[in-house]
Amino acid sequence: MSRHQRGVRPQSPAMKDEPFARNITPPVARTAPPPQQSRIGTVDSGILSQRCFADERDAIRYVEAVAWPDGPVCPHCGTVGKYYDLSNTRLGLKKCAACRKQFTVRIGTIFQSSPIPLYKWLQAIYLVHAGDGLNAHQLHRTLEVTYKTAWHMVRKLRALTVAH
Ligand SMILES: [Zn+2]
Repeated sequence: MSRHQRGVRPQSPAMKDEPFARNITPPVARTAPPPQQSRIGTVDSGILSQRCFADERDAIRYVEAVAWPDGPVCPHCGTVGKYYDLSNTRLGLKKCAACRKQFTVRIGTIFQSSPIPLYKWLQAIYLVHAGDGLNAHQLHRTLEVTYKTAWHMVRKLRALTVAH
């Protein structure tokens, strides 16, 4: 743990073979003011008012930009940048022009089987990794998700950090 400073990532270029969630923290964490001891009530005001933390469409756009710097990549056949946009059917939904299968940016990530909106995941990533990091109970209250959901989110995010 000593080598890994929580909430601050090395500013290395995104590596393509790496789940992008590991690269998500920087844009916020880099510009964030020094973390304060008490998270609740202080962290929400500025940073979490950014649109990608509040609007699902912006959250998807943000995650897509991080995950797919060269354009959407079909998780089924690996085709890059050739797809149909099915956002009118479901936000973020795409159909590969090569293999005709549908996909979203969530596939192959920790978000894949989660019913939680991406914007709440982005908040969670920030809140769990920044500063002292929120625990499941704090996350449950801050994100207004059930304690069980918050617990699972924290577990997934911490596992990601340790594995890294
Ligand atoms: Zn495909």
